[in-house]
Amino acid sequence: MGLTAYLEGARVLVRGALGVSRATVGVDRVGEQTFVDRKRICASCEAASPRKATGIQGLKLLTPMSRCKDCHCLIQLKTSLATERCPRGKW
Ligand code: SF4
Repeated sequence: MGLTAYLEGARVLVRGALGVSRATVGVDRVGEQTFVDRKRICASCEAASPRKATGIQGLKLLTPMSRCKDCHCLIQLKTSLATERCPRGKW
């Protein structure tokens, strides 16, 4: 693993830990409707993985461990924080 990849991994870990901390203490959370709207957008995004098939054509659901392939964040956490942004500008 090169230094750049190592530093990027460390940056993602630190950012994730800070996000978990903010979500745990309830700081910086979005309202319920925004949270639901963001998750709905992520559930239909090809960057979200894994997603569960529902049996309904085109409809997939997020799992608690679903991550965004672009930013590597846990979607459940990312969509709950007001300071987070979609890297593709979808929300
Ligand atoms: S944060 Fe944006 S790019 Fe990532 S899964 Fe959600 S909609 Fe897709």
